[in-house]
Amino acid sequence: MVAADAAGALPWLEEPLRRGVSIRSHAVLVHGPDGVGQFELALALAQAWLCEAEAEDPAARRPCGACPSCRLVRAHSHPDLLVLVPEALREALGWEAAGTDGDEPVEKAGKAKPSRDIKVEAVRQAVAFVQTTAARGRAKAVLVHPAERMNPIAANTLLKTLEEPPGAARFLLSCAAPEALLPTIRSRCQSLLLGVPPHGLAVAWLAAQGVAEPAVLLAACGGQPLQARQWWEEGIDAQAWRQLPALLARGEAGPLAAWPVPRLVEAMQKLCHDVFSVSAGAAPRYFPEASVKGGADLVRVADWSRELSRLARHAEHPWSAGLMVEALVESARNALARSRRGVRAAVNSLHSAR
Ligand SMILES: [Zn+2]
Repeated sequence: MVAADAAGALPWLEEPLRRGVSIRSHAVLVHGPDGVGQFELALALAQAWLCEAEAEDPAARRPCGACPSCRLVRAHSHPDLLVLVPEALREALGWEAAGTDGDEPVEKAGKAKPSRDIKVEAVRQAVAFVQTTAARGRAKAVLVHPAERMNPIAANTLLKTLEEPPGAARFLLSCAAPEALLPTIRSRCQSLLLGVPPHGLAVAWLAAQGVAEPAVLLAACGGQPLQARQWWEEGIDAQAWRQLPALLARGEAGPLAAWPVPRLVEAMQKLCHDVFSVSAGAAPRYFPEASVKGGADLVRVADWSRELSRLARHAEHPWSAGLMVEALVESARNALARSRRGVRAAVNSLHSAR
């Protein structure tokens, strides 16, 4: 079997792709956790819609991977496919502008940071794009990833076209936070859930990517293999993850200096979760069992957790990374210090804080 490139490269997408190609709606919303391949699944579906190979049931065709249309999708130059992704995500998705998606050339050196949003201008281009005849005669596909990155004006611009789509136009939206979408957008789309992949498939895939001790990093990332690979590429390995709780408890900021601040905040939030789990007699979810010690002052951990939630909401602020890491590690050390206070005091404090 020749699979779509994207789905073929991520083996757990085969099953959701089968579900996706049977959807007849002109608009599909791929949703589920980040880091499991939403973009790749949406792209494989778009490729399926545009594929020109003979199929017994044209409405449920899978991408053949070999026809001229599939080759054009692979080359990012299919004239009937428009991909809207924020500038800031293009590189990570391997979808650099190929000059075919109608965007203005991305201004590079010396300019402001690449945008994290899907701008209204890009959505207007998509609306104009679907009004024109399909160049290859089959369909026109617009992929919007992640759809929650459209601001309300951009989303409303798209909504009008979703409500009255031109004949051959089909839309793929992907989203890790469907509740952040306009309800009117959600209701126009048929949903396609992409959940966390089967553990064995994800571990085997990570191992094939060269990730050492893949099960540790996969757990660290809540079962999301693309995120685990990204962490690995950023230099966070199983060893570093395993040692993180002890490092924080000792207040050692040095080995963490290279961590991206949002990543460190996320790691600390996961540690809070696991400290509470272990204190309640449950197994940790993100860290190996031997890494998380019980006995912390849960009142302080709860305060720390709230502080981290506040920070996470501002995770895209331009922090001075060095100072920030030091401050974060200091707050972690304080929170994780062994305590003589009991669980009862912690529970009372949590209740009174609500
Ligand atoms: Zn094909």
